[in-house]
Amino acid sequence: MFADRLQTLGTENAFKLADHIARVVASGQTVVKLNLGEPDFNAPDHVAAEAKAQIDAGNGHYCHPAGIEPLRKAIARQVSETRGLEVDFRRVVVHPGGKPSIAYTMLAYVNPGEEVIYPSPGFPVYESWVTFSGAVPVPMRLRESAGFAMTADDLAALITDKTKVIILNSPANPTGGLIEAEALAEMAQVIRDRARPDVRVYSDEIYENIIFDGKKHASIASEPGLEERTLIASGHSKSFAMTGWRLGYVVLPTVEEAEIFKNFNINLISCTPPFIQEAGRVALESPESAAAIARMVAAFDERRHVVVEMLNAIDGIACVMPKGAFYVFPNVAGACESLGAIEAFQQMPPERQARSSPSTLLQMFLLYRYGVALMDRPSFCRIGSEGEHYLRLSTATDMDNLKEGLRRIEAAVADRAGFADFVAQGVPA
Ligand code: PMP
Repeated sequence: MFADRLQTLGTENAFKLADHIARVVASGQTVVKLNLGEPDFNAPDHVAAEAKAQIDAGNGHYCHPAGIEPLRKAIARQVSETRGLEVDFRRVVVHPGGKPSIAYTMLAYVNPGEEVIYPSPGFPVYESWVTFSGAVPVPMRLRESAGFAMTADDLAALITDKTKVIILNSPANPTGGLIEAEALAEMAQVIRDRARPDVRVYSDEIYENIIFDGKKHASIASEPGLEERTLIASGHSKSFAMTGWRLGYVVLPTVEEAEIFKNFNINLISCTPPFIQEAGRVALESPESAAAIARMVAAFDERRHVVVEMLNAIDGIACVMPKGAFYVFPNVAGACESLGAIEAFQQMPPERQARSSPSTLLQMFLLYRYGVALMDRPSFCRIGSEGEHYLRLSTATDMDNLKEGLRRIEAAVADRAGFADFVAQGVPA
């Protein structure tokens, strides 16, 4: 019944894990959810108030397919001020959430057989769209020893004359890695030297406001010669805790390219709800927003310290300190080894192995036997991830929950007999 191309479409397991969690909860267990990729805050009151006022004023009709002018102008101003650029608002295209422009980029620039470089571990929707569009996936491995930051050398080794798009993400999901200003400058040099002039950089900066240690967000678009090659993507989901509002945007290198993206909007969604866009404009323009962001970032900052310290105290787990976003990405190789997860994985039939990994077995054990939900390594771009043993833990939940989750992880990792029994009973697929 289905078309062949469906074989190449991936998914975002963060949404799929909900079924497993529901099953565990239905069996009477509590689940500590450390799997969520969204802030545990609500949209700021002044933003919500604007949305309500706009609905009451009847602002619920079709609007401009690229986004309402006041919001596009606010985005152009914010991006210009924070990146040291002069962005014409006609280069801005608004869409529901941050995801559409990832797809648009593949569809607009990449022919089947051309190569796309993207971070791995990375946001899963990158790899999904790369393979679905018929492009050749070129995962750029992020090394724990480098704090999971991409480096210019890593990038240089992957660029060929078939490279068409390079995806960057800083601060990064799922690792909390940050590409520091110096590394960005070096990467820009590599791109100027080695990439064809028509290569586009897709710079996913959706976590731009969630950075610690007093560091400022830096964009590769600010580097000489890169503004005209870079798509700057961001949105309101993370900065303003507005994940369910669905508001994201991209700044294209040229007005001509923005017209192409506008036409994708016309074909797919017509427009983004105008009352949401007006509220999004207030989020960007109101002087009250800075305090709302600062409150969230302070909470994430405090939690990352507690979580990293507790993780590092567990035998078989090692965790680097994230520099941004609200995730930590512990190395669980030791725990997989001592529990027997690596051996159990090796004994699985090949068709099960293709959809699993030692970290997946650990993830399922943690959820079904200890009631704590995390994400496994293959959930973050799977191609070439064999032999990497990590879990993603989100700090977007309160401190009591985090501490309870960590206690459960510690108990689980020490329970070799329980793990053997869990595997013997058959790991839920
Ligand atoms: N990019 C990255 C790196 C993300 O982590 C996410 C959300 N998890 C998105 C894009 C998409 O965000 P949205 O919910 O706004 O579509």
